[in-house]
Amino acid sequence: RSGAKLYSQQLSRVTFNDVAGLAEAKQELGEIIAYLRDPRHFSRLGGKVPRGILLVGPPGTGKTLLARAVAGEAEVPFFTISASQFIEMFVGVGASRVRDLFENAKKSAPAIIFIDELDAVGRSRGAGLGGGNDEREQTLNQLLSELDGFEPHQEVIVLAATNRPDVLDTALLRPGRFDRQVVVERPDWRDRLEILKVHARKVKLAEDVDLTPLAKGTPGMVGADLEAVMNEAALIAGREQAEAIGNEHLDKAKDRHLLGLERKLYLSD
Ligand code: ATP
Repeated sequence: RSGAKLYSQQLSRVTFNDVAGLAEAKQELGEIIAYLRDPRHFSRLGGKVPRGILLVGPPGTGKTLLARAVAGEAEVPFFTISASQFIEMFVGVGASRVRDLFENAKKSAPAIIFIDELDAVGRSRGAGLGGGNDEREQTLNQLLSELDGFEPHQEVIVLAATNRPDVLDTALLRPGRFDRQVVVERPDWRDRLEILKVHARKVKLAEDVDLTPLAKGTPGMVGADLEAVMNEAALIAGREQAEAIGNEHLDKAKDRHLLGLERKLYLSD
């Protein structure tokens, strides 16, 4: 068999400390962490933990990061796969890849499976023009059957991310499957400030830098944008041979990133 693996297994070193804001989402996921840390204790108490949880929110808001952090906090292996990839790259084997992934995760239980862009496989069946896509449907059917096929002692939690919960096949949302949703919100300015602080840990800021105006001046930006701005500021400061990143570098980086965002919008029109 070819060694090409579409999923990767890792031990996550990300923790909640790396995820800024998202207080509500973190709180809701806390229960999952407690379960994964000590599944038997949970079951003894008769608690029923959800198997599948949908992380719903716009791109770049930290869904993947959050999933990794859950694995990091619980100290369990993290199996990740991007749904769009496994359809595009491996025609005819999507379903067997899904089977493979779940089998491996079960062997490593307690564990977390994370499926990014669930909507790529999870769009409602038969909705496509021209009779739908068999490959995708087979993959989706396999996923549904895996979600139903867990034994109680197989302590695997499946997290999936989407920014289009409205297009998902309703079969995915039935009890026992992805029956719980955690909303991952766009950050407000306070959260943006926290996100900037997380990413500021990795760079050298000048003493007089105040991140508050930047946080207030970046409405609409998400974590991925803010990380990019911080990185761009470091590059600009480096190019100018500065000792540290100053307010002026952050300003320039923000403008540059905004320009990039505008261009992207323009091109996608
Ligand atoms: P997509 O839907 O595009 O996959 P996503 O919601 O999964 O996006 P991530 O991939 O988790 O977003 O975010 C990209 C990067 O942005 C993260 O690796 C992290 O560095 C940064 N980031 C996003 N949100 C946060 C946050 N709340 N706190 C700290 N960093 C964040």
